[in-house]
Amino acid sequence: MTQTVATSAGPRFTRVAVAGNPNSGKTTIFNGLTGMRLKVGNYAGVTVERREGRLRGDPTGRTLLVDMPGTYSLAARSLDERIARDVLLGWQPGEPPPDAVIVVLDASNLERNLYLATQILDLNLPVVFLCNMMDIARQRGLTISLSRLAKAFGVPVIPTIGNKSEGLDDIAPALQEALAGPVSLRPFCPMPEAIEQHAAQLGRVLVRHRLADARTARGAALLLLLRPSQVEHEIDEPLPVEVDQALHVARVALAVAGFDDLSSYLVQRRYEWLDERLASVIRYALVRREHLSDRIDHVLTHKVFGLVAFALVMFGMFASIFWLAEPAMGLVETVVSWLQSLVHAKLPEGALSDLLADGIVAGVGNIVVFFPQICLLFLFIALLEDTGYMARAAFLMDRIMRGVGLHGKSFIPLLSSMACTVPGIMATRTIENRRDRLATILVAPLIACSARLPVYFILIALIFPSESVWTKAGVLAAIYLAGILLALGIATLLKKTVLRGPTPMFVMELPPYRLPDPWPVVRVVWDRGRSFLVRAGTFILAASVLLWAIFYWPHSSDLSPAPETHEMLSQALAAPPAGQGGAVAESLPQTLAPKPQALAAASRQLEYSLAGRLGKLIEPAIRPLGYDWRIGVAIIASFTAREIFVSTMGIVYSVDDAGNGSGVLRTRMQAAVRPDGSPVFSKATCLSLLVFYSLAMQCVSTLAVTWRESGSWRWPAFLWGYMAVLAYGAAFVTYHIAAAFGLAA
Ligand code: GDP
Ligand code: MG
Repeated sequence: MTQTVATSAGPRFTRVAVAGNPNSGKTTIFNGLTGMRLKVGNYAGVTVERREGRLRGDPTGRTLLVDMPGTYSLAARSLDERIARDVLLGWQPGEPPPDAVIVVLDASNLERNLYLATQILDLNLPVVFLCNMMDIARQRGLTISLSRLAKAFGVPVIPTIGNKSEGLDDIAPALQEALAGPVSLRPFCPMPEAIEQHAAQLGRVLVRHRLADARTARGAALLLLLRPSQVEHEIDEPLPVEVDQALHVARVALAVAGFDDLSSYLVQRRYEWLDERLASVIRYALVRREHLSDRIDHVLTHKVFGLVAFALVMFGMFASIFWLAEPAMGLVETVVSWLQSLVHAKLPEGALSDLLADGIVAGVGNIVVFFPQICLLFLFIALLEDTGYMARAAFLMDRIMRGVGLHGKSFIPLLSSMACTVPGIMATRTIENRRDRLATILVAPLIACSARLPVYFILIALIFPSESVWTKAGVLAAIYLAGILLALGIATLLKKTVLRGPTPMFVMELPPYRLPDPWPVVRVVWDRGRSFLVRAGTFILAASVLLWAIFYWPHSSDLSPAPETHEMLSQALAAPPAGQGGAVAESLPQTLAPKPQALAAASRQLEYSLAGRLGKLIEPAIRPLGYDWRIGVAIIASFTAREIFVSTMGIVYSVDDAGNGSGVLRTRMQAAVRPDGSPVFSKATCLSLLVFYSLAMQCVSTLAVTWRESGSWRWPAFLWGYMAVLAYGAAFVTYHIAAAFGLAA
């Protein structure tokens, strides 16, 4: 292999993998040791992508730590288990095996954590054990003899409390020692003769194919034998034919020898072996108190109260988003309008001032308005994750998910998708079964994400101009709930048709409740909030400039207003409907009185522009949904990202006003009328838009990540297609039902 050639730049880095069960504190320790700030969370499956960082305070300065996905085993039953195994065996393309492994053990759950640890020890790499969560073990009345643990497994053991950075200083020296010392071949957990023989044979084949060396051969062979043969071709890359054959031969021979359920046997044998070893290591306090976590769980995972609590948590989340964000939003909106009129007042009239005011300030500013809400949403999700509630939600939903043909594990990616579909889709890597994983990926985009929030806010404000915050919060909660229900419905369909197959047992650990550490939470919110702003400052900015340009050119300055347009516009402007944002609008500096003449000309400019012609071209296709050509342009532009809807509206109604800033965007949209005098944004149109934006696949990043995770362009194409059909159909039905109730006028 070629990877070790990278030595020309000096001595090679020493690579140390940080392995362990989910939620054992790997990432916390990795962050503590490297000074990095990767995301931690109190539920399984947070670390889905492997990351590297330099070990701080290491005298050589050349030790690289690799954060691995948390797994209970290296059996490669799921994608994350496979990645963990491949990292340790050097089967990841272009990557040698690590030089040493730090195994993070959750001291309060030692036996289960040691199961993985012994699989790693079987690979005969230098290993250091960290006994993390010592505080929790102590609280639970466990006494762990660290010296006996070290002796039983022949490795250094360091007690740590990851979130308090206790014990981290002892890691680097222990690592140096482990790396310097000789590694003997440790026959851990000896298996019956027949199994050992076949493992040795398979090991030799692996060595021949350079998939193992003398140290790792037995361990690697045992891992392949452990892997259930059903998942072989779903999760794993194909092995060389000779290895596949050897594996098959070994399985058949062992079945004949009486090991017909080899996987289960191997698991059981290892646990028995661990049991014997641990008897002298752990002492349990005599009385097993019921922990506070257990008592809370009596309520929160209760069949009825649990669901009620879940609904309350969700509603509370949306209510506070509206409640706390409304004033902040008003402020930012005022600033945006003020900036627009400032630019128009200070700069000479022309393309530059129009670009600044109507393109950039309107396009980007109207998105930045949502910064407070986005931060709040992220804050709530971070709290759900870090307190341990997310895992309860998944547990609660397991029964419902089972009815759908998925399991509770699929619920966490769906909940994470509320922040953003991309990490939600990545979180599906913990799902064992490829079909279930695909089904989850294909429905995750139906969950309302934060990019949809700006669109929802505007539309809800238009549909319920004067309703209370509670009503609006209820509507938003209902939209999210509907997204979840629809995702479950479509998942059922997929599982009954294209992705039919059994769902494996659901085993999920409920981590103890914790008071979240404030700093990591603040950092997550800040990181995500910042990337929202960066996105607004780069991607949305570029899109806004482009959009503005196609609304501005071809430019005709001597368009004379048609009389009927003139009349209509002056009527509309004479009586701007009061309501949502009305208070803000009134407090705005009314720089210039509206000049109907100029306005009508501006409106005709819109139709004359490239975007206008494009919009007119597609108008027949979207008219049945209740949209005019302006909305059509916004919809097309939003296929790159949903927020662009708001940017487009910002630009359309700024250009349209020809600089006569007459209030915030919501007010302007309310006042917009069609050629026949009816409002552009009738309740029916807004409802139809709400449905369309909830269901259409308008996110390039999601398509890209679906492509990557499914390994084929067909799945993203299918995703896009089914969502397009669904969105169009549902928006059509919504519009016509709403119109039948008289909401179209
Ligand atoms: P990972 O899944 O193994 O990467 O685990 P994380 O690093 O994400 O940690 C899971 C949770 O445990 C986080 O909420 C941490 O703050 C918390 N945590 C980590 N180490 C300790 C510890 O030693 N004691 C306690 N009480 N909590 C810890
Ligand atoms: Mg992690």
